[in-house]
Amino acid sequence: MTADQSGTRKLYWEDSFLDTFTATVLEVREIGEETWGVILDQTAFYPEGGGQPCDEGRLGETEVLEVLEEVGVILHVTDGPLDIGAEVEGSIDRGRRWDLMQQHTGQHLLSRVLVDEYGSETRGFHLGDDDSTIDLTKELTEAELSLVQARANALIDADLAVTARFVDRDDPAVKAARRAPPDVDLVRLVEIGDIEAVPCGGTHLPSTLRIGGIHLLSGGANRAHGLFRISFICGDRIRRRLMELDRMAAALSRTLSTAPSEFADRVADLFEQNRDLQAEIGEMQRALIPLRVEALKDTAEAIGSARVVMARIDDLPPETLLPLAAALTGEPDVVALLGAGVADTGRLVFARGEAVDLDMSDLLKEAAGILGGGGGGQPDHATGGGPRGEALDVALTGALDSARAGLTAAS
Ligand SMILES: [Zn+2]
Repeated sequence: MTADQSGTRKLYWEDSFLDTFTATVLEVREIGEETWGVILDQTAFYPEGGGQPCDEGRLGETEVLEVLEEVGVILHVTDGPLDIGAEVEGSIDRGRRWDLMQQHTGQHLLSRVLVDEYGSETRGFHLGDDDSTIDLTKELTEAELSLVQARANALIDADLAVTARFVDRDDPAVKAARRAPPDVDLVRLVEIGDIEAVPCGGTHLPSTLRIGGIHLLSGGANRAHGLFRISFICGDRIRRRLMELDRMAAALSRTLSTAPSEFADRVADLFEQNRDLQAEIGEMQRALIPLRVEALKDTAEAIGSARVVMARIDDLPPETLLPLAAALTGEPDVVALLGAGVADTGRLVFARGEAVDLDMSDLLKEAAGILGGGGGGQPDHATGGGPRGEALDVALTGALDSARAGLTAAS
């Protein structure tokens, strides 16, 4: 196999299993803080491109952090400098490459089956660290996706050869390919048996059998930018995923005291129980309000002709502040200055009976300001709050002082 290229010789195109090699250092430049760009005469490091992430590994004593291609020249980003003219040993992370080849060859096969079975064309794909995705022109149902998966796995079992060759861009095989070739005279065509041929610069397995299985992730399908996205994993990732899921299922099984097949029913029951309990708690809390109102009235401070109740209500849900204030100010001479801490924030409800001459919204704005927030309302009723819940006591005490001043001046 030859390539129409000047620049770095791409050993990964000649042998996708090559993981150690020797090369001559042609150029070294410092490209960032503690990073160098190294150009070799040849390399087995695949550079980021065509949907396939780059290889990682070592060059001599340095670590290869990233690999990029710029017009045929491959730049190895390393964490240390190398000597120009020196011979250097390179080794790529074999596990990472193997995994990426399983995902990439699996993607080619999957794209073929999707178009053959349902006319759904691949518009893009991404090989991710966890899941990989394909963006399709046509949406498929769950049943159709199951069929695609079964068909793709049957083609894996059929052990079809996967090969790559360079052909003229006018070659009928290039014209027939689903994807437009890059702007080069010689196009690298990756073929699967006689069912698939597509321009691709990636590294591939020698046969479909080595993909080791394709699994479409249920729940991974969604629409994005007018395309239908599916998620999948191939080969060893399926085994690792199964192991993770099995461990999670075992842990959940112990917690829920039920078999995985009963999880959905058991969790639905728990949700229902929880809803019922919340409703019961709500009822009990509402039933407590009249008692609480009496207890709060006992703490009232007489100022002029009014009785002022100032309190923090942290043991009831914050939504009970409103009914509490309403019940308290049902009596015409009562002023209620109530606050509650909610998570880290503070909430305020200020209200007064009809016989009291004091503006609640003025008082509230001042107190909410201390909480770093705001609020408003009417002269007889105002609500608000702010993010500085730790200042709630200061805000309430300040409001009580202002009430004292206002009511004393008025009387
Ligand atoms: Zn490809």
